[in-house]
Amino acid sequence: MEDCLFCRIASREIGADILDEKGGAFAFRDINPQAPVHVLVLPREHISTLKELGPDRCDVLMDIFSLINDIAVSEGIEQSGYRVVVNSGEEAGQDVDHLHFHLLGGRFMKWPPG
Ligand code: 5GP
Ligand code: ZN
Repeated sequence: MEDCLFCRIASREIGADILDEKGGAFAFRDINPQAPVHVLVLPREHISTLKELGPDRCDVLMDIFSLINDIAVSEGIEQSGYRVVVNSGEEAGQDVDHLHFHLLGGRFMKWPPG
């Protein structure tokens, strides 16, 4: 998807603070962090929303969660706790139409979210 912001970050066409990659997943820091640690973890291939994740995408989902665990360790939040959030679709507040998992940590979180 040549007009997709996150595809362009994945292809290094647009710069971002990329932390790590694993299989079909990669991770970079959010440009507008909502917590001391705010990292986006996403599939390298263009998948728009959660509803496009079928059983054929199991591998990339495992890569994403494996990378989330690695980054929680490298960012020092695996003991204190962290939140993983997906905004899928308009009412959930998804702004970028390329599936991404927000990894947030480094502060106390409230519930329910706004
Ligand atoms: P959404 O609202 O779609 O769940 O989250 C999109 C996230 O992407 C937001 O947290 C926003 O700050 C982040 N974001 C938007 N544009 C850029 C960008 O150009 N670079 C980076 N690193 N993050 C971005
Ligand atoms: Zn994309």
